Amino acid sequence: MDNAIWNNNIRERTSNEGASGYLTIDLSAISRNYEKLSATLSPAKAAAVVKADAYGLGATKIATTLFAAGCRHFFVAHFCEATELKPHLSDEARIFVLNGLQPGNETPAAEAGIIPVLNSMEQLQLWSATARALDRRLPAVLQFDTGMSRLGFPPEERALLADELRGKNDIEILFIMSHLASADDENSQQNGDQLAEMRRIAEEFPAFSVCFANSGGVFLGSEYHGVLARPGIALYGGAPNNGETNPMEPVVRLDVAVIQTRTVPAGTHVGYGATHVTKNETRLATIAAGYADGLPRSLSDRGAVYVNGVRLPIVGRVSMDSITIDISALPAGTLSLGSLVEVIGPNQTLEMLSADAGTISYEMLTSLGHRYRRQYR
Ligand SMILES: *Cc1c(COP(=O)(O)O)cnc(C)c1O
Repeated sequence: MDNAIWNNNIRERTSNEGASGYLTIDLSAISRNYEKLSATLSPAKAAAVVKADAYGLGATKIATTLFAAGCRHFFVAHFCEATELKPHLSDEARIFVLNGLQPGNETPAAEAGIIPVLNSMEQLQLWSATARALDRRLPAVLQFDTGMSRLGFPPEERALLADELRGKNDIEILFIMSHLASADDENSQQNGDQLAEMRRIAEEFPAFSVCFANSGGVFLGSEYHGVLARPGIALYGGAPNNGETNPMEPVVRLDVAVIQTRTVPAGTHVGYGATHVTKNETRLATIAAGYADGLPRSLSDRGAVYVNGVRLPIVGRVSMDSITIDISALPAGTLSLGSLVEVIGPNQTLEMLSADAGTISYEMLTSLGHRYRRQYR
């Protein structure tokens, strides 16, 4: 892989602020991923989903990077995420709150210029009342449920909603939106079903433009694009769908330091619960990250790390702050106190690690803890 992130000599980084792991986030790779998504979407535009601290990678840094790359629409999940991000972005950027607002947050949101996604009649009424109270027209996005039963106006409320909006002047609807439940599987029947439903909605509300695709949806074809797509995971290098090759450039690298090495005879117990017993004389290393650092316990006796391209299996249970690995496959003396092992990098993608952990890249990224030294490139 010729991505600059992999060519970086990690061992030179001695000033680590006391951390025992390095989370390297390549901002230029995020920009290139944004450009790739924009090119695929054109003439539709790409927003950026930066909820959950931009999937754990740092919302402020990433949103300002993407603003420089031309992005003007940013989606978070919670109002508090929007208020945190707002002062760091130009007023040209629009910040949308996917979950909408909790009652009582309408006036602060209106005053801060933050735009809620209205998911229900109740959220619509509250936003409308706020507009009237402030004597201002307030912008909003309307979300419809097209088959996920999670958020948005259900089909049976659409007629009432259309009536409600007729002649309504206090709210300015910027987009109508919905969310795909199975866009990571391009063969899923649900994609076509949701698209058909979204088209019916667009016919019922012809005054408004459509915001529809997430990362997976971007690659399902232009009929899914609407005027604005909402990619998240693809920006961060995650695979947008479960196809053979990931079209996105990797963004994250994770290296963790060795704390201790040892050689143990056959029959030695390793870790909590002694779930692993060595079969032969074995060289072990303990590395300084565990489930409190987002390497889940489900990696116990399943996952691996890499050194010089050599796979080093995790043995025994993942602890809170450490993991033990079998380093017998490496020449003796390769690893010692302070050596770094690759947890995510050229040998082990985010998807590979997530699969070993029995989870998805989204959960993996958003779980990576705050004890790593974060370096932005
Ligand atoms: C999280 C989210 C997205 C982004 O999804 P990705 O699969 O990460 O691209 C888009 N829209 C909504 C409503 C979301 O909740």
